[in-house]
Amino acid sequence: MHKVVIIGGGYAGVSALTRLAGRKEIEVTLIDRHPYHFLQTEGYALVANTLPFDSTIIDLHALCRSFAPPATFLHDAVTDIDLQQKRVTVENSTPVTYDFLLICAGSVTRFMPSIEGLRRCSHGVKSLTGAFEMKQFFERELFIRLENAQHAGHAYSVVIGGAGLSGVEIAAEMQHYFNRYYQSNTLSCERLQIHLIAGGDTLLKGMHPAIVARSEARLQQLGVILHKGAHIARVEPDKAILEDGAHVDFDFMLFTGGIMASPVVSRLSLVHNKLGQLLVDDTLQVPETEALFAAGDAAEIHDKKGNILPDTAQVAIKSGAHAATNVLRLLQGKKPLPAHIRIKGIAIALGGEYAILDLGKIRIYGRLAHSAKKITERLYRWPLWLRCREGARRIASQSGR
Ligand SMILES: Cc1cc2nc3c(=O)[nH]c(=O)nc-3n(C[C@H](O)[C@H](O)[C@H](O)COP(=O)(O)OP(=O)(O)OC[C@H]3O[C@@H](n4cnc5c(N)ncnc54)[C@H](O)[C@@H]3O)c2cc1C
Repeated sequence: MHKVVIIGGGYAGVSALTRLAGRKEIEVTLIDRHPYHFLQTEGYALVANTLPFDSTIIDLHALCRSFAPPATFLHDAVTDIDLQQKRVTVENSTPVTYDFLLICAGSVTRFMPSIEGLRRCSHGVKSLTGAFEMKQFFERELFIRLENAQHAGHAYSVVIGGAGLSGVEIAAEMQHYFNRYYQSNTLSCERLQIHLIAGGDTLLKGMHPAIVARSEARLQQLGVILHKGAHIARVEPDKAILEDGAHVDFDFMLFTGGIMASPVVSRLSLVHNKLGQLLVDDTLQVPETEALFAAGDAAEIHDKKGNILPDTAQVAIKSGAHAATNVLRLLQGKKPLPAHIRIKGIAIALGGEYAILDLGKIRIYGRLAHSAKKITERLYRWPLWLRCREGARRIASQSGR
């Protein structure tokens, strides 16, 4: 029996799991510090209250039990990896040994230490806890406004630092949410304001100029205030101070300006890039190790031409599946294959039923793009939910419920 351990049950880890589990010759163990896979790509809908939180998670216990034979799920935090002894140390259980290890531990928000006060005074949105807290914060504010007419006249401001994909999606969705409230209630929300701070001269850096222009127009139409070329120098509990001395006051600040590899990955004595991501070869193996693969945000992954691929769910899913395939190939005595991951397209949700879908040569704007994004999200979610339902049924029948 070969032991395969996967660290991280996010997009990459779950994709590897579904390829490896259910085989008699392999014992698969998935380890995650959370009992769920948080669907970060739907985080904007959770924050804006268009999806309940249970629709943004996949239960990892139930998912692992759905395979025959089942995979083992260990709900624990990995603290160390002994590459010589092939052993993973976790916080609360005995260490787990492996023949092959897949590192899929993802990334965390990178609160730049050079920006004083950033970590202390702003929030990240990469975890379910962060997204949930933010959602509750806004709901509470709206509720207080409903109860207290005087308070409803107060200005309320949210600053989003970082105008990449996640910052733009959340800004658009939140502003749409506030506008929707304003239209359908006597509640005064016109003084609820979202500020989006972009360090560069443009938002959505690296994307096609037509997409950038349309996104900007949409954000302005919604009423989001854009601050382009604005560098945050310092953050205080109620204001972001810019390098030119200007400041933007806030009641809540969210920082989406960058990511770095999860600490358990960046701590490993292996070769990393400046974000702490592991450098892997084109088969996604960590060089000079035999049994170690990395996928998703935990690794710097290149396309066929050598360009670095963006840290997206799409790349995580494909790289997780590919790393798992290469483990299977090695177990069959075959050579691992290069990954050659290609991005098929990217969809950006821009509030309500408006989105942009970029398929390379074709770009689609509006409702159609929004429907395509929703369908893609469901096509990912539904097969996993069906599996979870089966896994939950098995757990219940075993415990006599
Ligand atoms: C708001 C937002 C919107 C986004 N929108 C899009 C989008 O529209 N399209 C897109 O393609 N991408 C989008 N992304 C990016 C995408 O979500 C990430 O690239 C993707 O989640 C990476 O997948 P992953 O499996 O590498 O990591 P993750 O999904 O982050 O999973 C990593 C897992 O590892 C676990 N873990 C970490 N450390 C440990 C440890 N020490 N011990 C045990 N477990 C550990 C974590 O709990 C987590 O479950 C968005 C991101 C955000 C934040």
